[in-house]
Amino acid sequence: MAEVGSGRAGAGGSDVAVSELEAAAYEIPTDQPEADGTLAWTSTVMVVVKAHAGPVVGLGWTYASSAAATLVGEKLAGAVVGGDVMDVQAANDAMRRACRNLGQPGVAACAISAVDIALWDAKARLLDVALSRLLGRARPEVPVYGSGGFTTYDDETTRAQLEGWAEKDIPRVKIKIGESWGADERRDLHRVELARRVVGDDVELFVDANGGYTRKQAVRVGRAMDERWGVSWFEEPVSSNDLTGLREVRDQCAMDVAAGEYGWSPWYFAPMITAGAVDCVQVDVTRCGGVTDWLAVAHTAHAHQLQVSGHCAPNLHAQVAVAAPNLRHLEYFHDHVRIEELLFDGTLRPDHGALRPRVDDPGHGLSLRDADAERFRIG
Ligand SMILES: [Mg+2]
Repeated sequence: MAEVGSGRAGAGGSDVAVSELEAAAYEIPTDQPEADGTLAWTSTVMVVVKAHAGPVVGLGWTYASSAAATLVGEKLAGAVVGGDVMDVQAANDAMRRACRNLGQPGVAACAISAVDIALWDAKARLLDVALSRLLGRARPEVPVYGSGGFTTYDDETTRAQLEGWAEKDIPRVKIKIGESWGADERRDLHRVELARRVVGDDVELFVDANGGYTRKQAVRVGRAMDERWGVSWFEEPVSSNDLTGLREVRDQCAMDVAAGEYGWSPWYFAPMITAGAVDCVQVDVTRCGGVTDWLAVAHTAHAHQLQVSGHCAPNLHAQVAVAAPNLRHLEYFHDHVRIEELLFDGTLRPDHGALRPRVDDPGHGLSLRDADAERFRIG
């Protein structure tokens, strides 16, 4: 067995090695067409990884392309199988190295994330402890915000979704703006006004432009949303690649500016953090490199006096986000909430605006209902 730090994961003398990685892809249609400022979709692909280690099977997943499932078998299994399931960091390092020539961001990072999550789950199950306890909780629960409000929704649909979150006592909501790359600013403002009217003054109102605005447009819209409707969170007002632009919006608008959902590794976040581009760093455990790298980013942000927010995949994020001392909240994203409730046992329901991971179940406590998932399988 290879030593830690070599091409394959694992420390010699391990009792329990990773024996097999399984990967499968599922395509789940949306309940109706969805779009944000810069992308539209009618289905979501989820790639599930099962990591076998001794008597346990760890479960991880990512929202990506079926290519991520192919990559698990083609590249990642060779880097991980045979390694000690306890040494997840070594496995993570080995996977990154194995993907050097493919390009580590994007699909590869999603595949690495799913395996990393599955390994952490396997490790916790082997130790018969909840993942949140294994990581070490900073808090018992994670505040969430309702997220959806797609630009494809008509006013009635938007209203019904916002009222649904209110019925669950979620005191924070977010809608998408920046429709058609910022081409329909008037409708954006109309929808923000509608959202404020529906939720009332006591609910925090967030918006996400998904990089759809130009710098000046973002400042103009941001100031209007602050003054008229008290919007307190402006996500990706301009492209996440435009750190100078994010900083400009941050300096000129009162609300917090956030970005980071396309962060494929801890290295991605360093320039964003040191440039002072955001007030809060968004990190996605299914993209950034899994539990291992989510925590690395959270700690980096913490060292720079910044908060972190979990991006989507709420049932996974709840497990790891409780370990972040600088956590702000977690995105309770309509599409992923629906998929996770459809296909997994052990999902969490918000209680007074927060998710509380169970500490009595080993691992993350979630299991895939394989029979229910089978009809969506594409790879
Ligand atoms: Mg976003």
